[in-house]
Amino acid sequence: MALPPAVELRRRNRAALLQQLHRHGPQTRAALTEALGLNRSTIGALATELAESGHIEETTGQSTGSAGRPSTLVACVPQSITVAAVEIRADRLRFALVGLGGEVLERSETALDEGADPMTAVSVITGGTAAASAEAVAAVPGLVDEGTVAHSTELGWIDRDAAADLEAATGREWQVVDTATAAAVGEWTRGDARDSRKLLYLHGGRGLTAGLVIEGRAQRGGSIQLGHIVVEPGGRECACGLRGCLEAEMEAFGFGEDFETTTLAAGMGDAAARDRLRRFGEDLGWALGAVVTATGPDEILFGGWLRELYLSTAAPVRSALAETTLPHLRSKLRLRTPVLGDEGALIGAAETGFAALFDQMR
Ligand SMILES: [Zn+2]
Repeated sequence: MALPPAVELRRRNRAALLQQLHRHGPQTRAALTEALGLNRSTIGALATELAESGHIEETTGQSTGSAGRPSTLVACVPQSITVAAVEIRADRLRFALVGLGGEVLERSETALDEGADPMTAVSVITGGTAAASAEAVAAVPGLVDEGTVAHSTELGWIDRDAAADLEAATGREWQVVDTATAAAVGEWTRGDARDSRKLLYLHGGRGLTAGLVIEGRAQRGGSIQLGHIVVEPGGRECACGLRGCLEAEMEAFGFGEDFETTTLAAGMGDAAARDRLRRFGEDLGWALGAVVTATGPDEILFGGWLRELYLSTAAPVRSALAETTLPHLRSKLRLRTPVLGDEGALIGAAETGFAALFDQMR
């Protein structure tokens, strides 16, 4: 049944105010009035209501201006809404409990033995806190379709119902997102890609994936399978069954396992290592050209081990991109490395949960 317009409007305004505070941090009522385009009395009524429900508190901040009068700041109460986030990798599991406003309330990490099933460690690392949180989101490297991991090079999973396995392990529902998309959400929300309209995040783990965030919203329906773009038709056989995929070439260069050795050797002047980096940089640039042509991002972030690759060998990536994309698409494109580094996917998984909560509140 539809809510009366006034009640619905109030719900929307309440969600907008909480989201504003969650993303931008404590601020004055005057700043909220301006940011949300609502009048002062509406903000006042919402603040009172949200303080009564325990979601926000008004605190006296540092004095501003020459008058020296302290300003009253509206801030989130972190414990009022919590989201559980897990990042699953082949060699480790990470957990964070994140509160409203983005504060990390709990954090833990555990190493996994080679070949061990991460699901067996999930209930231990999340403890009882996952069950008590408002949302729970897991970031998994690979092609994710709803709760199912259709293909993960890194984990060796094909068509695994990860959402069901996580629920069986912890006794609560989980949302599953791919690592690259989660990291893109993290960088857009908490990194310095906040102004990006179309943010493409490339994640280099044992496989290569990419995630897209458009106007702050994660692209639904799974990540971009960067690693399975064919760069050498009829080339080496890939684990996915195709031939000449970027990942197959990456494996031939030994990058999935031993990238650091190559960059170190290249840095010391080893001509063969330099050549391998340049050739892989070209392959990556060509695959990226196809993705840029299809999606038209304004910003590309190189994450995981691709960060080091980009820092050490940006030129072949850029020149391959220049050969394969329209000038119009290139002219507005920024290439960078992520500021959250290795934390992006875990933070982004939590932020994916908060985005879902704010949507439900509206
Ligand atoms: Zn492949």
